[in-house]
Amino acid sequence: MSFLEKVYEHSPIFWQNLMTSVAGYQKNSTRYGQVYHDYRAFLKDFDTWPLQKQQDYQFSELMKLLNYAVKNSRFYRELYAGVDLASFKTVEDLKKLPIVDKEMLRKNIEDVITDKANTVEEHTGGTTGKSLVVRHRIEDSMRRMATLDHFKSRVGFEHLQMKRATFNGKHIVPPGQKSKVFWRYNRACKQMIYSSFFLTEENIPYYLDSLNRFKPDALDGFFTCMLDLANYMKRKGIQPGFQLKAIFPTSETLTPSGRALLEEIFSCKVYDQYASSEGAPFVTDCPHQRLHMDLASGVFEHFGEGDEVLVTSFTTYATPLIRYRIGDSMVFSPEGQACPCGMQAPMVEEIRGRRLDFLYTPEGAKVNAGNVSNLLKNMPNSVIRAQFQQSVMDKVTVLLEVDKALYNETYDDLLRSEFLHKFGPDLKVEIRHVDEIPREGSGKFRMIKNDVEF
Ligand SMILES: [Zn+2]
Repeated sequence: MSFLEKVYEHSPIFWQNLMTSVAGYQKNSTRYGQVYHDYRAFLKDFDTWPLQKQQDYQFSELMKLLNYAVKNSRFYRELYAGVDLASFKTVEDLKKLPIVDKEMLRKNIEDVITDKANTVEEHTGGTTGKSLVVRHRIEDSMRRMATLDHFKSRVGFEHLQMKRATFNGKHIVPPGQKSKVFWRYNRACKQMIYSSFFLTEENIPYYLDSLNRFKPDALDGFFTCMLDLANYMKRKGIQPGFQLKAIFPTSETLTPSGRALLEEIFSCKVYDQYASSEGAPFVTDCPHQRLHMDLASGVFEHFGEGDEVLVTSFTTYATPLIRYRIGDSMVFSPEGQACPCGMQAPMVEEIRGRRLDFLYTPEGAKVNAGNVSNLLKNMPNSVIRAQFQQSVMDKVTVLLEVDKALYNETYDDLLRSEFLHKFGPDLKVEIRHVDEIPREGSGKFRMIKNDVEF
């Protein structure tokens, strides 16, 4: 633990708020420089460009990145030996380059990184079990921030001007704290940070009380935290004491039923986004809640049979990601589809999330997160949280945290019958009722924990 972290832990809450704000102002200085403001203006214009013009820009940015990587990264120089970059004519020519995966990056990270000066470190990836430390140039981070803020601005939320409530896994509440204050204020961003670690059935009233006093304009951060709140409010018939402009979940895969619940309880739209700490390009919802690729941020491509994507990202100059197998899947919309929002950028039908965000049937077919959450649809409002664990193909263990006042014993059988219909008779289902399902060390809640080896 650093000296500052120790001071933080032993300080009173008002002092912790101050430290949180000071850290926020410091962070802002690396996030909101000239590059940020210029890029925000550029993106506003870029949205209006016809598709061909966007694609031409994408190709020129791609060549810039490829040439830079070959010149400055020993890893890419050796990997691309014998490839004539000068012969590339379109983005499609990317296919002439080999695919890079996480393990290749991890093993060679010192040779991958082009430059350590003016970069910040970013730790990534808990879900796949492999962690990776990448570096980002400050100007690249500014462009990433600008892209996210531009996306929010398109749907009516102005970052730094409006208030947001963020649910994340930062360790803001010291162990042993007696008072029920599970949030800290970052004045630099008009942001109230709510810890995901203490969001239990018993503590939710305190969170709600704080939210009602803070009156945020938007919620962002962990999707499952927002769901826990919405679920509780639905069960108890509680209305929010504030009107949100938008909800922006991050980090966890959205489920259609969860999204609908949030929109019902908070009377506002949920806007989805795809981004990653490694620095992948962006896919963001437009005002019509259709996902559009941001061609200014990189290239998405499919490879092989399934929906898994490779990413090439234009904001990764310090740790280039080129044809990188990030582990996520997407269904692309058919080409040439028009969106009522008027933007011509290609659309994405669905983001399927991490490779491990699904369960297997005993036969090896995948059942995605949306379908898994649907297993619970016949027991409305009585399940506080559920976790599905699978470590062998023919068995799933379900942990259930239920509202005992509403949960009916026959629901276990309903759940079994849902499993039977989706997974067939060969799957063994074990249902365990627990008082609380723990979160991960990162503070995220995982609905599905799939450790099947293959
Ligand atoms: Zn659109």
